[in-house]
Amino acid sequence: MEERTYREEFYIPEGKIYMDGNSLGLMSVRAEKAVERAMTSWKEYGIDGWGKGETPWFSLSEELGNRMAPLVGAKKEEVMVTGSTTVNLHQLAATFYQPTRKRNKIMTDALAFPTDVYALKSQLQLKGYGDSELLQVESVDGRVLEEETIIRTMTNDVALIVLPSVLYRSGQILDMERLTSEAHERGILIGFDLSHSIGAIPHDLHEWGVDFAFWCNYKYMNAGPGSVGGLFVHERHFDRTPGLTGWFGSDKEVQFDMDHSFRKAPDVGAYQLGTPHVLSAAPLIGSLEMFEEAGIEELRKKSLRLTAYLMDLIDEELASYGFDIANPRKDVKRGGHVYIEHPEAARITKALKAEGVIPDFRKPSGIRLAPVPLYNTFDDCRQTVEILKMIMEEKRYKMYDNERDVIA
Ligand SMILES: *Cc1c(COP(=O)(O)O)cnc(C)c1O
Repeated sequence: MEERTYREEFYIPEGKIYMDGNSLGLMSVRAEKAVERAMTSWKEYGIDGWGKGETPWFSLSEELGNRMAPLVGAKKEEVMVTGSTTVNLHQLAATFYQPTRKRNKIMTDALAFPTDVYALKSQLQLKGYGDSELLQVESVDGRVLEEETIIRTMTNDVALIVLPSVLYRSGQILDMERLTSEAHERGILIGFDLSHSIGAIPHDLHEWGVDFAFWCNYKYMNAGPGSVGGLFVHERHFDRTPGLTGWFGSDKEVQFDMDHSFRKAPDVGAYQLGTPHVLSAAPLIGSLEMFEEAGIEELRKKSLRLTAYLMDLIDEELASYGFDIANPRKDVKRGGHVYIEHPEAARITKALKAEGVIPDFRKPSGIRLAPVPLYNTFDDCRQTVEILKMIMEEKRYKMYDNERDVIA
């Protein structure tokens, strides 16, 4: 992989070391150009842009879904670029949560991203249940989940499981293959939130038999703030009618017949709702090219080297300052970022930002550092640790208040 060339294609904020690509990936020239092309299509074709131009809007969601399929290890017809993480979870839970009197619980985990929990609770309510039907697998240390505990919680009253592929704080990777097979043995459907693994690690969703998955494209995928998300539905479920329906989920052959009876698309296309958000899908047209060229396997290898190097430096240089590496250490268990904890994390984050390092703070005491293989370097890792050491040595963080709410 020609790593230098990719870095040069990104707009790195001037004078900054950007370690926050797991929250918002940086803009690349290719993503920018793709947006410009979408704007030009609109400017030049008006309504005809639906069928004309390099990437006609009418088939854009399908086209991007096809191109994302290798990143999740799916068949082309199993992946759609549509909606957002939260909307797609609503759609998938509305479809796959079909409670019966005996089996009416949804299982997730106590460390889940809040929006996932909110969405699941409202789906329970819509089906006449309440928060007591939501099981949240506890974490012993507030950082990681034990797969054994998850499996033990798969009781015969559970209808649906929704878990993260990679935990957003600690970066722990869950064994999706194992959990899927354990869930299926117990007659439970299972889906994963890939927001922190898409574009960071390879997946094999089809082979693993995962029922469904969903994700955003503005983190490791670098498709810009609020870019359109993605969803996967295993082909064995193509006969289901989506829980939420809209005219863009129609079979494309008949969509413009404007008939009032819904004839759904034969594949994952059925899960779309309305008119695609063309302008916020456009950056993905460009940014995906880099994943296609570099290959997710190669990117993962470099990511592991970068994060291992960063952890080594933290161990060597920062051990005496009270930092704790709180992500799992084994390669198969850790995603694309390093997670450190420190009681003064809020002030340290502010000091880092003042010194030009952009990390990501997570309450109450976590700092996430993501050296992204497409645009970060080993030198970024080295400088980050050097600056961190200086901040601790000179107690510079003491200049900042401990107010935790002001940090995004
Ligand atoms: C980033 C993230 C989200 C964000 O959801 P949006 O609908 O895109 O705002 C949801 N879940 C997880 C696990 C995330 O990391």
